[in-house]
Amino acid sequence: MASGLGRISAAGLFNGAARPVKATAALVLVLVCVTGAVMWQTAYWVRQVTLDEIGEQSRTTLNLIVENLRGDLGKYRYLPQVLAVNPLFPSVLTGDRGPGAIEAANLELERINAISGALDTYLMDDSGLTIAASNWAAEKPFIGKNFSYRPYFRSAMHGSLGRYFALGTTSGERGYYFAYPVRDGERVVGAVVVKLDIGRHERSWRSGENEILVVDDQGVIFLSSNPDWRFKALHPLSDEARQSVEGVRRYVGQDLSPLGFKKEGAAGGSGTPVSVTLPAGRGRKDKQDFLMQQVAMTEAGWNVLLLAKTDLVATQVRFGLAVAAICLASLALAATALHQRRRRVSERIAMQEEANAELELRVRDRTNKLTEANLELQREIGDRKRAEEEAQKAQAGLVQATKLAALGQLSAGLSHELNQPLAAIRSYADNAGEFLDRDQPETARKNLRGIAELTERMARIIRNLRTYARDEPLELRPTSLRQAIDESLTLLQARVDGEAAAVDVRMAEGDVLVVAGVVRLQQVFLNLLSNALDAMQGKAEKTIVIEIEGGARDVTVRIRDTGPGIPDDMVSNVFDPFFSTKQVGQGMGLGLSISFGLVNQFGGSIEAANAPEGGAVFTIRLRRAAQSVGAVA
Ligand code: ADP
Repeated sequence: MASGLGRISAAGLFNGAARPVKATAALVLVLVCVTGAVMWQTAYWVRQVTLDEIGEQSRTTLNLIVENLRGDLGKYRYLPQVLAVNPLFPSVLTGDRGPGAIEAANLELERINAISGALDTYLMDDSGLTIAASNWAAEKPFIGKNFSYRPYFRSAMHGSLGRYFALGTTSGERGYYFAYPVRDGERVVGAVVVKLDIGRHERSWRSGENEILVVDDQGVIFLSSNPDWRFKALHPLSDEARQSVEGVRRYVGQDLSPLGFKKEGAAGGSGTPVSVTLPAGRGRKDKQDFLMQQVAMTEAGWNVLLLAKTDLVATQVRFGLAVAAICLASLALAATALHQRRRRVSERIAMQEEANAELELRVRDRTNKLTEANLELQREIGDRKRAEEEAQKAQAGLVQATKLAALGQLSAGLSHELNQPLAAIRSYADNAGEFLDRDQPETARKNLRGIAELTERMARIIRNLRTYARDEPLELRPTSLRQAIDESLTLLQARVDGEAAAVDVRMAEGDVLVVAGVVRLQQVFLNLLSNALDAMQGKAEKTIVIEIEGGARDVTVRIRDTGPGIPDDMVSNVFDPFFSTKQVGQGMGLGLSISFGLVNQFGGSIEAANAPEGGAVFTIRLRRAAQSVGAVA
């Protein structure tokens, strides 16, 4: 049995140690995975949101720029058409012009050019030769220059609006050209050309954060917010493309080297990720990432690109990651605090349960002890009750025995008391017969009356004796004090007379009812009066004074004698059982002890003392009863 238990607890210990380690490892793994996932998701999300924001702003900016460019071009688009119908120009171009016609045309072109704000306005004949120009007075006027290689000239000569952009071969300035045919009747005799200063847009773009590029269909940057990128190619030009550009002399004197532009990913909703790598000197390359948006301006023959810097993305991602890390750390702290709190609470609950269990155990233990004590008490109560009953029985027996003993003591007196009337009755009867014989019936009748009185007295004595000998039940009832005293005195009468003693009963009010039992109260008085007679034996003066004094609630009876009194050192012992100073066979020492018990039963008290003038005084206090004398038992 013991070894089995040992095995079980060892296995429990082993499992108990392995399980938390495994659980902790799993928990750490889960936490690492969750943290990784949250950080990755946060970075992805912040990056996406920032890119979307950049894309949105770039689109708006780009649209504004494109609209601005469109507005600028649109403003000049119809100007050559309007100029083409000027009656001055066909004649200048056809050759049948009068003297001063070219000068007039020059002045007209200069005036209109100044009004329109164009860069140059000029007139070409059908061979591409410039006949008149607004810059006729400039250092390098266009007059006499042939621009037949320009595509806009060819378009105009074909009767349609020619439009083109290029770096001016004469001026070296970037311009946008609109050309419209000038007709003489139905015949196209030349073209009127308006050149705009398109480069001025760059200046307004430079102040912005973003790079703005206008590129041609070959990918050559024509306009750029970054001056270093101007006339660079987004992609290396093929030979074919290079030849076609050179054929129209669009970018005379520019080498059109590649910019170092690269697409970094697929185009998304917010734009296309691109990078531009420029040589930053001494072999170090400077690579810059952008988000590209582009709008094609097909009418102008170019693409407008906006390259937005994405530095903000990294900053925002770092910030987002920091916030996520703080949130995760806070969550972890909160979870730890919660976990610890729960552990503390469960520990407290466990402690409380343990304390409760211990308390319950103690309560059960106490209850058992109390039950046992209760049973013991009940047993003791039973024993006491039985002892009390036995004591009561013994007391009743004792009362009865002392009563009978008192009767025994009285018997001598009583026999005298009864013999005397019996002798008197006999002589009365004898005499009555004598008187009848003498024919003295009156005297005989007197004797008979005497006989009747004597028998009545004897009957009273016998009735008293019977009552006294009766075993009275213990209950209390209103009892006549006077009756109890009188009947006691009747029983003692023979002795009182025999010892030539006097009894003086002093009662202030008439009879009073007290709480007692008539036989027991009679027994008390009989005992006290007998003791008084005993004490006064051999004294010349033998008087017993019985004083009755009624109070509101109590009645006091004082019995004083003219005996020697109680020795002072014995006053406190007279009520002790078997205390007696009388000779053996004369006193049992139970009379006062029983009287004490009886008066206590009545709810009263009894005290012994010596009177100042000598003799003993017994004071009995009894409770006054409410009922009238008629109800006396
Ligand atoms: P007993 O009369 O059998 O001795 P009691 O209990 O009646 O027993 O009295 C106890 C004792 O108290 C008496 O022996 C006596 O010494 C004393 N005593 C009682 N009454 C008187 C009295 N009136 N005067 C003097 N002593 C008394």
